[in-house]
Amino acid sequence: MEPVSAARLFCGSLVSLVAPLYCVLCGEPTEPAALGASRGPLCQACADALLSGIRVGERCSTCGKPLVSESGRCMRCRGVEYRFDSAYPLFRYSGDARALILAYKSGARRSLAPFFARILAAALRERYPGRVVVPVPPRPGKLRRKGWDQVDDIARILERRHGVLVRRILERTAGAEQKALDLRGRAANLQGRIRVRRGAVIPEDPILLDDVLTTGATLSECASTLKSAGALRVDALAIGAD
Ligand SMILES: [Zn+2]
Ligand SMILES: [Zn+2]
Repeated sequence: MEPVSAARLFCGSLVSLVAPLYCVLCGEPTEPAALGASRGPLCQACADALLSGIRVGERCSTCGKPLVSESGRCMRCRGVEYRFDSAYPLFRYSGDARALILAYKSGARRSLAPFFARILAAALRERYPGRVVVPVPPRPGKLRRKGWDQVDDIARILERRHGVLVRRILERTAGAEQKALDLRGRAANLQGRIRVRRGAVIPEDPILLDDVLTTGATLSECASTLKSAGALRVDALAIGAD
């Protein structure tokens, strides 16, 4: 399958304003799931190929990243103390999965939220049935600047369509941009910047929800905050792992 070009994503986003008729990945027209149903953002072939990659291969026992030449824990997790008990990303953040997540995060294909919500809901049912989901909070001002938050869009659909219990009990205070920092820098930068909202009820064993697990620093800080507030066990679920 060819990588997605920026031009195609752009055209796709224009088309999707009218009707999402073309697959985000291959550009082929998508089939309606059933008569009267709206057409999805992916064609059946691309969706099948993507989903078949979820369960393949060994994963790191701590962060869930797919392992290439290591076994047990990935190189990055050895010697690192995360405050979450486990993390499970659905996809390796590369190829089609990466293109899809980027198309979603950039806002070019916000219509991918129901697709991600559907596969995350399946993972929640299978791995963490009945547990409360806590979305990783956006940086302060992000909603105002961008108009939407990619994690919250998915959380809303999990709640409304999939019956998942979601509690937005964390918030983030202002800090430096995380992207340019390494794990240690990220952890230091985040210290104390994630806090529990006033009056929030802390679930005993929440599942943190994020889009992409990069160093794990954000998830770890969220888990640390939740545990300080009384949570006994915190696991994390993400769409991709970088
Ligand atoms: Zn396709
Ligand atoms: Zn790992």
